[in-house]
This record gives sequence, structure tokens and C-alpha cells, in this order.
Amino acid sequence: MTVQAGIRLKDIEEFLADKPFTYMPAPAMHWATIGGNVNTNAGGLKAIKYGVTREHIRKLKVVLANGKSYVFGAKAVKSSSGYSLKDLIIGSEGTLGIVTEVTMRLYPRPKETINALIPFSSLEDALKSVPTILASGVVPTTVEFMGRQVLDLWEKYAHQKFPEKGEGFIILGLDAFTKEEIKAELEQALKTTTRFGSKQAVILEASSEKAQLIWKAREELLLAIQNSTPMMDEVDISVPINKIPEVLTRIEELETEVKMRIPNFGHAGDGNLHIYLCSDKDSKDIFAQKSKKVISELYKKAKEVDGNMSGEHGIGYARQAYFEDYYGQDYTNLLREIKKVFDPNGIINPDKIFPLK
Ligand SMILES: Cc1cc2nc3c(=O)[nH]c(=O)nc-3n(C[C@H](O)[C@H](O)[C@H](O)COP(=O)(O)OP(=O)(O)OC[C@H]3O[C@@H](n4cnc5c(N)ncnc54)[C@H](O)[C@@H]3O)c2cc1C
Repeated sequence: MTVQAGIRLKDIEEFLADKPFTYMPAPAMHWATIGGNVNTNAGGLKAIKYGVTREHIRKLKVVLANGKSYVFGAKAVKSSSGYSLKDLIIGSEGTLGIVTEVTMRLYPRPKETINALIPFSSLEDALKSVPTILASGVVPTTVEFMGRQVLDLWEKYAHQKFPEKGEGFIILGLDAFTKEEIKAELEQALKTTTRFGSKQAVILEASSEKAQLIWKAREELLLAIQNSTPMMDEVDISVPINKIPEVLTRIEELETEVKMRIPNFGHAGDGNLHIYLCSDKDSKDIFAQKSKKVISELYKKAKEVDGNMSGEHGIGYARQAYFEDYYGQDYTNLLREIKKVFDPNGIINPDKIFPLK
């Protein structure tokens, strides 16, 4: 399907709602444009099974700083035809050109979907079960994690009780074309989680009030954290999934070292963590100082475990000061040379991602 870059994700979803095909990446921000999604290589809840935006883009029309319009990519599936400038543009945060048209790949819509909430007596057990689920041959669309700390904040925010007991939870999502296939995958996944001490899973049937409350809690976690503090900052590092527990331990250490509350939740299936730095009673200046320390330490940890600075939200201007330190001078200089080829006068989104000089 080919669309103009300014079309919103929600319009694409609405257009495809009664068609047998669907656009698979499912970033949570439905108001985002497809041009924005391409330029941040947005990822969503189905990244484990279907990949992120990059895997779904076949062709882009891009206007460069020289004023000329180019076509990068083609409708064909395979290409062994030289540099992929389409892939260079994806995730470039508008620093190389302006995307005006996007040709995307659609998938047949799976007929069956199922989601289950699986409680554990610790968040660590919940997280440790995930690589084993994936290794068992089950390919979920979604594996989200949330711990007691963020659910306590949600209960305070929503004035409601989370309907299941446990210290750590995963929400497992599956899709398939037949009932038999999805049932077999769910059984296999649940058999695996019991080895990590999981409790009775709750199948999230759309019609059940309990399921609606569980989804409401998941969707309102960010609001609940925002509501708990006057100022907040966010880090969205992505790390190998077997390293998530190690990173969460480092976050706990930082909470004590820096005296800051750092609630978090995220995508256990792809290692993208949403980590929130809360100011609470700190002044603006103290919060800025503490945040700098926490952000640097989190990037240090992400680098140590072979992760990336951002899994979804991009580097932008807010984190460009950390980029060269994270990825190194040689790598950043190479990017600066590429930027010069596309935009010799540095007129489009200058200094975004990394400082030009
Ligand atoms: C509540 C919330 C939830 C979110 N959830 C997710 C999520 O689940 N997954 C995820 O990946 N992200 C998420 N995000 C981040 C954000 O929605 C995505 O990065 C999204 O792709 C941005 O799209 P946008 O249209 O808002 O672009 P903008 O924010 O306007 O722009 C993003 C970048 O792309 C550039 N850009 C935009 N359009 C073009 C164009 N046509 N040509 C060239 N450059 C362009 C801009 O210059 C900028 O650098 C979330 C954000 C919020 C606030």
C-alpha cells in the first residue's frame, strides 16, 4: 500500500479495518504519522513476531536538501542491488531528507488472537521465563512485563485494585490462523512458565470485565507514573532480553545511590525498557543533576550488555549529547560524513542525533 507521509497510523488502521490485510507494526501512539514512524523506525507490541517499521517498508519517496525528489527501494521483496538508501533513511530522524511517500508491506490478518496475563511471585522469575518461552518454539506477538512497583502507582492513580496477586507479571500475546495452532502455542508457553513458578494465567477475553481492567492498567501505567511526580524524564534503552534482569538490578542500585525513584516497565520480548526518572521533591536543578548521572549510568549499562541507546523514541536533541560517547568517535564521524553527502549545508534537522561538529 502506498500512502503520503503525513497520514496518521490511526487512519491507516481505520482504512484497513474491514480489509483482509493489515499493517503489522503496532506502535502505541496512533496519532503518529507514517513519516514519523519511518524516521524513528517505530516499533510496537508485535515487534517480536513481525519486526519493527523497517521490516515493513518497501519503498520511500524522499526530497533531499538539493531540492530533488528520489525513490529509494522498490516493491520487489528481494534486493541484492547495492546500497539500501531506503534503510539509511529509516530511523534517520529527518536528518537526511524529507519523506513524502511510503510504500508499505501488508500482511493477511491472522484470524485468531489471544492474550494472557501470567502472574509470578517475582519480576525476576517473570523475566527469566521469557527467553525460555521463545526458545521453546512459541513465537508470541507480544510479551510485556510489569512489576508490583508500577502497579502500586497505577492503583493509586486509578483508585482501583489490580485484579490479580503477584510481584511480577507478563502479558503474553499470540496470533494464528487456526484455533488449534493458537491453543497449542498457548499451552506450550504456559507449560514453560510453570517451570519459573508462574501462577494460574488469566486469559484476557475481550468481553470479560477483569480483562478490561488489566488492559486499562497496562495502558495507564505511563499516566500513573506521570501523575506520581511533578517532573519526569525517560530513557528507553533496548538490551538483549536475557540481560533485562541485570539492567533492572542496576536500576534498583541507582535508586539507592542517587536517591531517586525510577519506576519502569517494558517489552520483555524485545528488550526495550521504558525507564522513568521521577523528580518527586527535588528542585529543578537537583533533578537535572541527578538525571544526568542516572542517564549516563543507564547508557553505560546498556552499552556493557550490547544494547542500544533507544529502542523506540529516538535520540533527537534531548539525547544527542550522549551519542558520541556511546557509539564512539569513529562511528559518529562516519555518520557526519554521510550527513554531509545528503545535506552539505546542514539545513535539515541540524545537530539532531549527534552534534554536526
Ligand atoms: C504516549 C506515547 C506513546 C508512544 N509509543 C510509542 C511506541 O509504542 N513505539 C514507538 O516506536 N514510539 C512510540 N512513541 C514515540 C513516537 O510516537 C514515535 O517516535 C513516532 O514514530 C513519532 O511520529 P510523529 O509523527 O509524532 O513524528 P514526530 O515526533 O513529529 O517526528 C519524529 C522524528 O521524525 C522526523 N520526521 C517526521 N516526519 C518526517 C518526514 N515526513 N520526513 C522526514 N522526517 C520526518 C522529525 O523531524 C523527528 O525527528 C510514543 C510516544 C508517546 C508520546
